[in-house]
Amino acid sequence: MTRLPQSCHLIAEIIENWGGRSYLVGGLVRDWLYRSLENVPADSIGNAQDFDIAVDLRATNRTLLQLLKQLHRRIGATYVYYHRFLTATLHLPEERIDLAHTRDEIYPFPAVLPEVKPAGIERDLKRRDFTINALAIELTKHGMGKVIDPYGGQQDLRQRLVRVIHPESFVDDPTRIFRCLRFGIRFGFEIESGTLYLLRRAVKDGYLALLTPERVLYELRCISKEESALKMLEALFREGVFAGCWRWFPPRGFFTELTRLTQAGIRDELLYLYLLSRLPIDNRFPLTKEERQAQAAIRSFTAIETRLRRARKRSTMYRLLKPVPVPALKVLRVLKGGATRRKLDLFLNELIAVKPDLKPLDLLALGVKPDPQLGKIIERLLCARLDRRVRNRDEELALTRRWLTRNV
Ligand code: ATP
Ligand code: MG
Repeated sequence: MTRLPQSCHLIAEIIENWGGRSYLVGGLVRDWLYRSLENVPADSIGNAQDFDIAVDLRATNRTLLQLLKQLHRRIGATYVYYHRFLTATLHLPEERIDLAHTRDEIYPFPAVLPEVKPAGIERDLKRRDFTINALAIELTKHGMGKVIDPYGGQQDLRQRLVRVIHPESFVDDPTRIFRCLRFGIRFGFEIESGTLYLLRRAVKDGYLALLTPERVLYELRCISKEESALKMLEALFREGVFAGCWRWFPPRGFFTELTRLTQAGIRDELLYLYLLSRLPIDNRFPLTKEERQAQAAIRSFTAIETRLRRARKRSTMYRLLKPVPVPALKVLRVLKGGATRRKLDLFLNELIAVKPDLKPLDLLALGVKPDPQLGKIIERLLCARLDRRVRNRDEELALTRRWLTRNV
């Protein structure tokens, strides 16, 4: 089994010395156990830089914060501590560790974040989404101890099944509908029949509509990172998840575009931007400024495209495309064919990097007056350079002098 980083050993040691317990939990345990059961090659699963550790400090009179402080002193780990949720994230040069006190969760209402209170590992595993994600490995001073598997997670790994732990699971947290389809497809597992029934019932009963925009965005971001994103989005559509969230049905061409993008290797951030542009994601959704700009640019590109089609001069193409965020252009170049694609590529591969050799100081030395004249001349030089009317510094100098003597 894969070795643990030194920081995890240290956490285990400190906690054992205090009389508490610590456990490795989450996707890593699932991936490790699956690998050892199925002999799956290591690179097809999980991201080994992220570690989830659950700590049970109830038998000690210490707190999670004391642990964090000690780790900071001993190995310089920096941390963010979320007092309300009893969780923390540790940042180390080689790895990130999510730490959480083992807890019970109570969902006061469907789809809202739960209230938490400290509890043992079995309770902690019970609140998790699927049996395959409800596995823990106890950590000891000397390494890894026993596997804790109260809900048959290993059996489901063997049978390649995604199964919820209790019938209210999707109602408590409808993001699990996304997660269920995502894990099923990522691992090529079947969704256990009772689970599929519960998933469909939760969709039909409208629980997805209760999710906050923020949580839906998080799920879309997770999907965008997946190799099988297209299949996952198709499954979401098939199961009525988009309709359930927003009464929304994909427009014609949505899956054709998605196929094109994924075949071209578009993933992660760029795929996410595409989704933002096509799904009904409006101002209620917390997007960054850059995301919102790219979203708007992809949505409204037709207007620019019409003008771009007519553009012959390279400087005209530049002027049209310069205000469009580069990530949006990278998405659009895949969506578009023919001349538009060629012009987008010309811009991205060549025009975007064109700059006059003459700098503002050179121009001032030639007698150019400060702004607005300086700004105008720089822009005209750039156009001349783009259209290849000048090719080097000397030609730029000559041209600028001509402009100045003719006062144009
Ligand atoms: P990945 O390989 O995508 O990281 P993961 O299983 O580690 O998969 P995370 O989202 O990193 O998934 O979450 C870590 C663990 O936290 C999960 O394995 C699961 O036990 C628990 N978990 C995460 N999200 C939920 C949820 N919505 N409901 C219940 N448990 C969850
Ligand atoms: Mg994880």
